[in-house]
Formats: sequence, structure tokens, C-alpha cells
Amino acid sequence: MSKPKRDIVHGPIELKGLPLTDLETLLVEHGEKKYRAQQVYDAMYINRIDDVQEMLVLPQALRDKLAAEFRTESVRVKTVQRSGDGTKKFLFELWDKRTIESVLIPSEMIEDDGHPRRLTLCISTQVGCNLGCEFCATATLNLIRNLTSGEIVDQFLQAQKHSEKKITNIVFMGMGEPLNNYDEVMKAVQIFNDQRTDMVVPRRTTLSTAGVVHGILRMAEEKQIIKLAVSLHSTNQGIREKLMPIAKRWPLPVLYDALETYYKATRKSITYEYVLFDDLNDTEDDVKRLVKL
Ligand code: SF4
Repeated sequence: MSKPKRDIVHGPIELKGLPLTDLETLLVEHGEKKYRAQQVYDAMYINRIDDVQEMLVLPQALRDKLAAEFRTESVRVKTVQRSGDGTKKFLFELWDKRTIESVLIPSEMIEDDGHPRRLTLCISTQVGCNLGCEFCATATLNLIRNLTSGEIVDQFLQAQKHSEKKITNIVFMGMGEPLNNYDEVMKAVQIFNDQRTDMVVPRRTTLSTAGVVHGILRMAEEKQIIKLAVSLHSTNQGIREKLMPIAKRWPLPVLYDALETYYKATRKSITYEYVLFDDLNDTEDDVKRLVKL
């Protein structure tokens, strides 16, 4: 059981983002009965209550204590931009006033009622990113800090409150490289994929990586059953290095070996993401190499 650590931003410890075992440890350490953790867990993730004072299942004295010592607000909606196709872009403010984005994307519209069959939330995992991909706006920010599991889970909870339809899929593909914030991301995944929280199932949870090999190998070792997607963008080492500097650290053969290990351990197919750039990665040779993967 991992011990809940003090928040990586200043301020009271977040309750949101803690899986049940961590919540139990925390509350017992603070002199409470273990079963209270289950009540707080259910209130936050099943009943989706943000304010401790509204968790009426808890006695008033405990609500006061939790409100004084901890916090349950992890992200706050600053703005929501709506597009004509139903996409919603959220700007969230964090405890330390930094901001991150999440995007809610409807797809596969059902003709009869005009509602989406699939509603995917694209979630951020870091403030900024230090991987420096050539085509990415986030890269210009560099890495400011990792998000906590609470900030990751709360993007989902707050976005869901702005949608009449249930969010069906999540993809870790917003700001940041999720495998560079492995522990917090996987803690959030535990909560997302817990059947009791009714958030999202593992097969509808996708982690998109630029190719952080030690993270892929760790997923293989832990037999993580969520889906893995890799931003490939070129099968040519030189071109990939130009687009994604991470390719210098982990060249394509090393990346492919790690993906093979992951596949053997999990039997989960891997998605390759490939953005076409004119006259750079869109030749016939590129296509031939791609189909061989
Ligand atoms: S890993 Fe993702 S967030 Fe980071 S620079 Fe590359 S594309 Fe941008």
C-alpha cells in the first residue's frame, strides 16, 4: 500500500485522487475509523460530491475536521468553450493558479436523437511538458509540474458535470506525457476503472505516450490492462528525431522492443498515432514501413 504523500503543490492535502486503501491509511493516521474512508470514497467518486460539508453521511464533527485539514476541490472550471460539433474545451484552474486544459469530444453521432454514442474526455497529466515535440504547443511551456491524481480525476468529475451524456471514454492525451507522471496517473486509473465508481472501463481508457520506454516496460511488468497508444509520426529514425527529440533517447528499435514486451505481457493491441506532414512522413516508403509494423 503506498502511503499518501503530501500534495506536490502547497496547501492542504487533497482527498480527491486517493484510492480506497490510501484513503483508509490517511484517515486512520488522523485518528478516524477505517470504515469512514469508504464513506468518503463513495461520496467523492460515486455520489460525486465536491464539498465535504455536503457529505451528510458523515457526522458534523468529522465534516468540520475534514474541511479544516484537507481539501476535496482539485480543479476549478475557469472557462468552457463550445464548438458547433459539440466539442467542449475546458480551462481548469489548479490550487496554485496554474491552468490546464481538457477536451470533451463527441463522436459516432446517433442519427435518431443526435446524441453521441461515444463521448471522450482528453485529460491532461502535467502542467507543460519537457519532451519538446516539434508540432506541439504545450512543449513551448516546458515542464512546470506533474499533476496530482486528484487533479487528474477531478478533470473527469467536473467535465461530467458539464455534460448531460455520460463520458464513455478517456484518453491521457492532453497536456503532458502521462508516463512521466506514472504513479499519479495509475492512481487515477484505479479510481476511473473501479466498477463501483461507474466512470470508465479499462478498455475505454487509453494512455497515449510519446514513447517513454521505461514507462511502457513498467506497464508490461504490472500487466496494466488499459489501452496503449504510441505517437509514432515516422518510422524513419532521423525524421522521428526531428519531430520528437525523445527518439534520440529511445531509438525506434528500442521502442519496438518495449512494445513487443508490452504486447507479450498483456496481449493488448497497440494503437499507433501518425500525423501526416507534407513531404516529410507521407511518402510511399513511409506507408510501406508503416504497414510492416
Ligand atoms: S509528449 Fe505530448 S505534450 Fe509533450 S511535447 Fe510531445 S506532444 Fe506535447
